[in-house]
Amino acid sequence: MIRLHRVTKRFACGTEALRNVSLRVDAGALAFLTGPSGAGKSTLLRLIARLERPTRGRIMVNGLDLGSLARRREPQFRRNIGLVFQDHRLLFDRPVHANVALPLEILGYRRTEARKRVRAALDKVGLLQKENAQPQTLSAGEQQRVGIARAIVHRPALLLADEPTGNLDPELSREIIQLFLDFNRVGMTALIASHNLGLISALGRPVLHLENGRLEARHVTEPRSGG
Ligand code: ADP
Repeated sequence: MIRLHRVTKRFACGTEALRNVSLRVDAGALAFLTGPSGAGKSTLLRLIARLERPTRGRIMVNGLDLGSLARRREPQFRRNIGLVFQDHRLLFDRPVHANVALPLEILGYRRTEARKRVRAALDKVGLLQKENAQPQTLSAGEQQRVGIARAIVHRPALLLADEPTGNLDPELSREIIQLFLDFNRVGMTALIASHNLGLISALGRPVLHLENGRLEARHVTEPRSGG
């Protein structure tokens, strides 16, 4: 699903956020990305989502070589990716259902189909009863779940999450991680950046550790059995 071959990312200011990183995350896997603040986790996710371009190296996602991805194929590429951020980035001037519908609007879904998918996505994160609520009336955990519904509403093959539990207490963090495990069980590949080592280590899933732009573990295969 994801392959990086000797990827380096140097920003214009000279900072090398990633150095010669090679990794592979197979389709169907759920892997975590750990490492201290500034290690390069966000940059790695942004490269995979094609929000940034590498300085050197090759990135393949879902069979597509991002280095030679034509502009006309970008929509097809984005259709396969869901993004979750720590600060969820909800729009507070519209209700929950309209926030979740945003990716579908961008992808040109018809209104009736979009409505159906939005309700299905909210149901998956346990927030169907809040579809007409304004985001600011929700708790932090609920807002994050709306962000997750928005990330999966178009049923992407790959979910990328950047510190999705960063602002949440341990109990809410566990709930959010459980959602990712549920999505993974039905076939979604996921790469989740997280500081939360206590939570992660108990799950027995592959962990990629970044340190100062360098990766320790290199190869992730899917342990389908065992939760
Ligand atoms: P993490 O997500 O692990 O905290 P980041 O990927 O955000 O790490 O950052 C890795 C390094 O790259 C840091 O030194 C950070 O300051 C730098 N960096 C990140 N984004 C940019 C940018 N747009 N321009 C310049 N430097 C950046």
